Amino acid sequence: MWMATLGASRSRSHTRSKVLDVLTGRTQSTLLTSAPNAALLFPVLSTAQISRIASHGLIRPITRGEVLIEGGQTNVPFFVVKAGEIEVIRPSGLGDLLIAIVRANQFTGDISMILGRPALMRLRVRESGEVVQLTRDQMHALIQADAEMSEVLMTALIYRRIELVAQGIGDALLIGSAQSAATLRIKAFLTRNGHPFKYLDIDRDADVRDLLDRFRVDSGDLPVLICRGEKVLKNPVNQEIADRLGFNGGIDHAHQRDVVIVGAGPAGLAAAVYAASEGLDALVLETSSPGGQAGSSSRIENYLGFPTGISGQELAERAYAQAQKFGADIMIAKSAAGLTCEREAYGVRLEGGATIPARTVIIATGARYRKPSLANLGQFEGVGVYYNATFMEEAQLGDDDEVIVVGGANSAGQAAVFLSRTGRRVHVLVRSNSLSESMSRYLLRRIEDASTIEVRTRTEIVALEGNGRLERVTWRDGTGAVSSHDIRHVFLMTGAEANTGWLSSRVTLDEKNFIKTGADLAQKDLTAAQWPLERPPYLLETSLPGVFAVGDVRCGNIKRVASAVGEGSIAISFVHRVLAE
Ligand SMILES: Cc1cc2nc3c(=O)[nH]c(=O)nc-3n(C[C@H](O)[C@H](O)[C@H](O)COP(=O)(O)OP(=O)(O)OC[C@H]3O[C@@H](n4cnc5c(N)ncnc54)[C@H](O)[C@@H]3O)c2cc1C
Repeated sequence: MWMATLGASRSRSHTRSKVLDVLTGRTQSTLLTSAPNAALLFPVLSTAQISRIASHGLIRPITRGEVLIEGGQTNVPFFVVKAGEIEVIRPSGLGDLLIAIVRANQFTGDISMILGRPALMRLRVRESGEVVQLTRDQMHALIQADAEMSEVLMTALIYRRIELVAQGIGDALLIGSAQSAATLRIKAFLTRNGHPFKYLDIDRDADVRDLLDRFRVDSGDLPVLICRGEKVLKNPVNQEIADRLGFNGGIDHAHQRDVVIVGAGPAGLAAAVYAASEGLDALVLETSSPGGQAGSSSRIENYLGFPTGISGQELAERAYAQAQKFGADIMIAKSAAGLTCEREAYGVRLEGGATIPARTVIIATGARYRKPSLANLGQFEGVGVYYNATFMEEAQLGDDDEVIVVGGANSAGQAAVFLSRTGRRVHVLVRSNSLSESMSRYLLRRIEDASTIEVRTRTEIVALEGNGRLERVTWRDGTGAVSSHDIRHVFLMTGAEANTGWLSSRVTLDEKNFIKTGADLAQKDLTAAQWPLERPPYLLETSLPGVFAVGDVRCGNIKRVASAVGEGSIAISFVHRVLAE
């Protein structure tokens, strides 16, 4: 891997540029503590609340100039200021940026502390005084035991992170191009993992080229990710990013877990929340980012309790923080590659070799879009062909660009409505005779009302063309007529297939490769699988005792966020029973 040290470049003379202003934060003048929502980000605690927090930790003096936390430090402590002031600084090889000043009766921290990730910021004492100090474990104990403090602290930590993400203040700088699939992948990975980063586009900002020259990066090396102002990673894979930014730091995967949950979509995250909150030692493995398919939804409007809808990203972030708050360990960019079974113990084998021992396993690996068989599809993925329709993919489009959405289910309907809201022309291509067979009524009505959405039934794409990116699409309509169109963006949202390949049929699958559970396992299935127990499988239990399947990966599941969450939570009650057997 190619790396360069940003610090080394400081000695080189250079002219100031917009890019450097962004990097050093000079364009960024508002302190978070004086932002309009400062009361939400930095609430003032009462004396009684501070005493409750102090009962979990220790009180100690602080001295002006003392560094309490360094950027990148792991095992980050938590401070409540009793007297004095602490400044929060984003360290950078090109100049530090003051983010906030934490004053008396306020507290430090962002969600990294709960997630067990390294500190993004340096904390330095601005005025001597006194603090309450809690270790990360003591902080966890506090928020698990004290519901009122949990609400005050978690709300502030989550909103601080939202603010950092919105302002792009963090420890990562991505330089890439909107025309590059790898750039989109890295942006999506950082965004879906709630990691704040600044993005500079080589096609939109000429100054970026100066910066690349200074670090001797060829434009052919793009995208590059500069982490903590020190290391430059050239087109890193997701696992490399997760490792470099410390997403999985400190997670022990050698000891046997009560339950290993594979997949951090809504089903896996719900299982993690219920398992950890009920005292089970739970570890979650996730190939990509928390949230699964739901995380890629622009707006979920039918999930109970959110009358105005919630973006999949926000739902995923909240669930992720909630699972970690209760103490679940979640490994990001780690794929399960196999399930082993020896006597009564299971093991989940990771890609790369290590095996995590488990007393029970919950399979929540969901489903992914089926890809149409178009010869050169892979060539245009991320550069004209997309599988999600969120703000990230939309950023690749021009305001007037026409788009095609392929599919007739709710996800296609959401995508069409989302992409048409700026007046853009959207063609919805569906193979069946109408959308009404597969789409919710509320989405159908919005599509009917949108003058810029055109539904083309009995129509399918037959060819994609382009040089480096998608430039032209050919489709065949219901009459058999074939026509070509200069459309540069296609959103594919076609029927799902189960993510069960990694199991190598260790559990019984149905004819479409979804996992059979409970009463769906006929006697002949159990005989073939050599089911060893007197009792039949529990609801959600697979043909292996103590191995459960929940959510979209399960045969017969209703493909909804609510059912995934419900099944994830129900499975935990059966995990308790199995552990007690
Ligand atoms: C764009 C879109 C919009 C939608 N909108 C709605 C809506 O409005 N309302 C609604 O109710 N439903 C909606 N759905 C459906 C809903 O999102 C799914 O039913 C739900 O996400 C299923 O949850 P799950 O946890 O079972 O699986 P998934 O969400 O598919 O999550 C599975 C997770 O497992 C991970 N994984 C897979 N293989 C491995 C492996 N080997 N190792 C480790 N991890 C692995 C995946 O990366 C993924 O994160 C939508 C779906 C999409 C795609």
